Amino acid sequence: MNLIFLGPPGAGKGTQARHVAERHRLVALSTGDMLRAAVAEGSEIGKQVRSIMESGGLVPDEIVASLISEELKRARGDSAVEGVLLDGFPRNLKQAKMLEEILAEQDESIDMVLELGLEDDALLRRIESRIAENPSERREDDTPEVLRRRIKVYHDETRPLSDYYRERGLLRQIDGSAPIEEVARSIEAALANIGDIGGKRKAG
Ligand code: AMP
Repeated sequence: MNLIFLGPPGAGKGTQARHVAERHRLVALSTGDMLRAAVAEGSEIGKQVRSIMESGGLVPDEIVASLISEELKRARGDSAVEGVLLDGFPRNLKQAKMLEEILAEQDESIDMVLELGLEDDALLRRIESRIAENPSERREDDTPEVLRRRIKVYHDETRPLSDYYRERGLLRQIDGSAPIEEVARSIEAALANIGDIGGKRKAG
């Protein structure tokens, strides 16, 4: 089973992704986490992407596609894994097409796209209270100014993916403003409609 989590920054995708991955033996892959690790290591990729991430823009498609491609291969090599859950990738139509090619090479495809919806005002309120509650855990891009840019990038670049996946019959929309447990229940209800949920991923 291969899932994509779509949604604006701060909608709670990461938290929900980790729970769903654990419950369904999926590997949660977050391009944001991979890029932050590259920045922390000071690798060549890290140096290229650091300032882009700090400003809230999107890093080049080829960089994220190659990171995802490698991690997908690694995940397929683990027989205990039933599939993958992508959080933060794809972020635009070009990446969506790149993903299809990468999956096709592995004889795989996307089973469902879950979109966590939340109004822009609610996103800003969430980040402001998170900064107030945990000032020490603040990320470089955790400021209201950068969040505004990230929200704009989301509307301009990522939002069109909703229509793209709706037209393919893959999109399920979830209200991300509900409490965490309720959002988790809505996600489980949506996943229960995938025919092979909990079953083995396709052979090959
Ligand atoms: P995230 O943790 O998913 O919110 O990502 C943090 C930052 O990493 C984003 O603001 C982008 O700068 C970068 N990033 C993460 N995923 C992607 C992606 N698929 N394409 C381009 N940039 C990305």
